[in-house]
Amino acid sequence: MTNDSLPALILDTSAFFISIPVTGKIMTVPRVIAELKDLKGKARLEVLLSQGLIISEPDQKSLMTVRNAATKSGDGYVLSETDTDLLALAFEVHGVICTDDFALQNTAQYLNIDVHPMMQKKPEMRIWKLRCSGCGKYYDVMPADSICPICGLQVRRKNK
Ligand SMILES: [Zn+2]
Repeated sequence: MTNDSLPALILDTSAFFISIPVTGKIMTVPRVIAELKDLKGKARLEVLLSQGLIISEPDQKSLMTVRNAATKSGDGYVLSETDTDLLALAFEVHGVICTDDFALQNTAQYLNIDVHPMMQKKPEMRIWKLRCSGCGKYYDVMPADSICPICGLQVRRKNK
């Protein structure tokens, strides 16, 4: 049973492999299907098709809208064709995209498309880098007293 009043969930390739509660429509684009090459992916596709997965190609007008938005948001270079298709479909049907792809989330925000992040990662999370001001080595963990064990100079936090 599906509920038509709920927004359609648009599945990214990575969303195929997590179990999502299917309460409304689920949709994806042909390019995502083409990316499912292994047995695991194909088996999962069978399951989703039996749950009512709709494979739909976005129209040219939606694609144009997404490409324009991606250019403006600065994500045009990193969005794959699959990402563009997914965004266009979500835009067209007013759906929610299931993805953990950052560029996709960013452009979606720009287009007022709802995103359902799978990893519960916050898209606005800052990435800090720890780098020695002397030798330039990057650290994952701040060394004791913020001093680089290699050259003895200070390790600083940089906002990437
Ligand atoms: Zn150093």
